Amino acid sequence: MAKRKTARRTSLQLAQSPEPHQADHVRGVFCNRTLNLRSITAIGYDMDYTLVHYNVEQWEQLAYQHIKQKLVDQGWPLEDLEFNHRAVVRGLIIDRELGNILKANRFGYIKQARHGTWLMDHAVLRKVYGRTIIDLTEGRWVFLNTLFSLSEACMYGQLIDLLDRDEIPNVLTPRDLYDIIRTSLDETHMEGALKTEIVTNPDRYLRLDPDVPLTLLDQQRAGKKLLLITNSEWEYTRAMMEYAFDRFLPEGVAWRDLFHLVIVSARKPAFFSTDHPFFEVSGDDGLLRRVVGGPSPGGVFLGGNAAAVEHHLGISGDSILYVGDHLFSDVHVTKNLLRWRTALIVPELEGELAATRSFAGDQGRLAALMKEKEQLELEQNQARLLLQRKRKGYGPRPEEPAKDLELRVARSRRKLIALDEKIRPLAEAAGEVSNTRWGLLMRAGNDKSHMARQIERHADIYMSRVSNFMQCTPYAYFRSPRGSLPHDR
Ligand SMILES: [Mg+2]
Repeated sequence: MAKRKTARRTSLQLAQSPEPHQADHVRGVFCNRTLNLRSITAIGYDMDYTLVHYNVEQWEQLAYQHIKQKLVDQGWPLEDLEFNHRAVVRGLIIDRELGNILKANRFGYIKQARHGTWLMDHAVLRKVYGRTIIDLTEGRWVFLNTLFSLSEACMYGQLIDLLDRDEIPNVLTPRDLYDIIRTSLDETHMEGALKTEIVTNPDRYLRLDPDVPLTLLDQQRAGKKLLLITNSEWEYTRAMMEYAFDRFLPEGVAWRDLFHLVIVSARKPAFFSTDHPFFEVSGDDGLLRRVVGGPSPGGVFLGGNAAAVEHHLGISGDSILYVGDHLFSDVHVTKNLLRWRTALIVPELEGELAATRSFAGDQGRLAALMKEKEQLELEQNQARLLLQRKRKGYGPRPEEPAKDLELRVARSRRKLIALDEKIRPLAEAAGEVSNTRWGLLMRAGNDKSHMARQIERHADIYMSRVSNFMQCTPYAYFRSPRGSLPHDR
């Protein structure tokens, strides 16, 4: 009974809205590359962190405890270490050579650094990294783009502190330390253990969103073929989807009815590049049957490959939209190899946009002060140039005595110092919006962050969650904004 009530209430909100619905900015769909949903025939969905929302802190806390226990078992003195969920954010980069955690801008220049957990000041940063440009294909750098990497990076920073104090037995370098964390972290085992815990206590780990099932129902009824393509295994997929979807769907509709194909244990990103065979999962006991030819509608399949899905649907890559939360295995590979259209789920975006909105007043004051500073700098520089010409006897020279020009330069300098006093606290606060250590995920100072650049390159559209599609409807035309250029006014 409860499930029908919830679904009906949400759809009525939309249907009875007297005015065209204004999408809330925080829950918007943001466009890098123009995408018309009407020309999309099939929409593929990842499951974990895409269709199913987890309580991120709980999950990371578990992952951290798992790594810590492994190292404590090896005799490391880590009993006092605690997980700090604000210590790192996605999109940061570990420097395995030097034991630093970094934030880079879109060009790969390093703008912020911490050695272990300690902030590196700007003079040291310039000395160490002044000539460095990060190239993520080099083994020195580890790009933190999954949630597992957050618990791991938090631990790495804390252990570098211990390494500097000679409190870790038999570890020589920051690189050794990183390798030890990696090898003691059996990701598959850890994921298995976490998933068992989640299946047992779904109410503790899942965040339900009644609008996600309705969003998919809208898309399906609008004629889109929906595909579920997940690396999770069948038993887990079924448990999560039943829990997160069935209660919100109309009577007589179950989550399976939404999908044209369900593909589990897909082994993304290999799914997009190999020709692995499909196996059909038959019956509730999960028995496998080798499939001859391609997958058939309505079935549940294991393994398989993207080329066979395209062939089965009889459509080309640009008619398929794939929606996932993993920058590399969900969107980068998909776009690079198959030219599928891509949507990235960035759950952090809601918090970031809310924080940005609440800082908007100070941001406006900061911008006004910076404009004033630019004007003062120009006045000061012009007076200096006139003074230089006058002293060195070339070019057009002013009547104004040199002494007066010197006074003008000095006056501007005093004003600039006073202005900097006003700017500094605001600029510091701007660097701490959303996360006091690292600031916004998508920005590095005034520029785009390295993470933002990756998203821009590989994701056609991005949003905080799948249900943000609902406000836009299945017929939306997402147009990329006219990009701003340095010479725009
Ligand atoms: Mg995922």
